[in-house]
Amino acid sequence: MSQVDYIIVGGGYAGYFFAHQLISAGKSFLLFSDEKPGASEVSAGIINPVVLKRFTTFWLAPEQISFLEKTLVEIEKYTGRNYLIKENIRRIFHDEAERVLWLKKAETPELQPFLDKEISTVDNIENPFGAGSVRNSARLDVKAFFEDFKIYLAGNKHLRQEIFKHEELETNTYHDISFKNIVFCEGMGVQQNPYFKDIPVLPNKGHHLKVRLSDPLDHQFTIKKKHFLFPLLGDLYYYGGTYDRFETGNGINDSAVSQLKNGLAEFYTNDFEVAAVNYGWRPTVKDRRPILGRHREKPNFFVFNGLGARGILNGCYFSKELFEFIENGKPLMPEVDLKRFQ
Ligand SMILES: Cc1cc2nc3c(=O)[nH]c(=O)nc-3n(C[C@H](O)[C@H](O)[C@H](O)COP(=O)(O)OP(=O)(O)OC[C@H]3O[C@@H](n4cnc5c(N)ncnc54)[C@H](O)[C@@H]3O)c2cc1C
Repeated sequence: MSQVDYIIVGGGYAGYFFAHQLISAGKSFLLFSDEKPGASEVSAGIINPVVLKRFTTFWLAPEQISFLEKTLVEIEKYTGRNYLIKENIRRIFHDEAERVLWLKKAETPELQPFLDKEISTVDNIENPFGAGSVRNSARLDVKAFFEDFKIYLAGNKHLRQEIFKHEELETNTYHDISFKNIVFCEGMGVQQNPYFKDIPVLPNKGHHLKVRLSDPLDHQFTIKKKHFLFPLLGDLYYYGGTYDRFETGNGINDSAVSQLKNGLAEFYTNDFEVAAVNYGWRPTVKDRRPILGRHREKPNFFVFNGLGARGILNGCYFSKELFEFIENGKPLMPEVDLKRFQ
């Protein structure tokens, strides 16, 4: 029988950022990942302090962004790379009213750190009303982050690439593993978890395209109009993602693909070719806050879910909150505590 402090179930942002907390604290653990591409691996990797529809800030934005930067420096120490791409988002204005609203919001104390008052024009795309730059926004190199982290976990015997079978779980043992605590980080897979299947996460299906632009843009920053466009390797670009909270079926949805193609054609007027289409399910919560907490009857069973559309910031910041709650009894913020639903 092997003994560990923790089992983590799920290999997305929630599971990996929680694993980082354990690595930093010198805890022993095993992470189970079924290796199905979850929401995290299809995500754009955008790190964004602003809600770009309404020009408001995101909850705890400054704290979350600085915590993420610090965490990525810590992770670099053992994976050898920093995955933060410090390229701002340029928000293309749909019309004059949006441009005026941006400038007004940029004067407010809340938005002043994030909305650049200088309006620019982005070359080689349609943007007659100009674009505003979101300061302190960035991207995560999603592919490299997961590839390297996986290699690190496997190399240090932390990774089990298999489905975790809830029906074979006992209070302190799973197969030949004895553990102190178990943390479920399963994204929408939580619906199959008998201990936490009732937490109110709702799937929101998101598609993105990988596109080949006939005339690649000569900059690295992220463009945002309806969706995000940014360069991957060579002439390949990421464009996405859509939001659909009603579609529950598996498979690529043609109307999401058309929505993306039309969205891109609105500002990129040269030819482009779709090289790939991917989709995933965001685990969202009505009150737009993550869900963290302890099982009512199993005090060493925990859940970390509901990261919504901000998996990177929420996953990073709240992994620490959950760790402190479990290890040091630090109370969870009521806004994210599972107890708010009980
Ligand atoms: C198209 C799209 C674009 C997005 N873009 C961004 C973005 O730019 N920035 C951002 O911050 N967020 C973005 N998001 C949101 C973000 O991806 C999610 O919030 C985040 O991925 C959720 O992470 P998670 O770890 O909770 O779940 P997941 O990433 O879904 O990970 C859970 C993993 O656990 C596995 N699993 C489940 N049950 C079991 C089991 N029993 N045994 C073993 N493994 C199991 C699943 O297969 C999955 O791999 C995007 C989402 C989508 C769909």
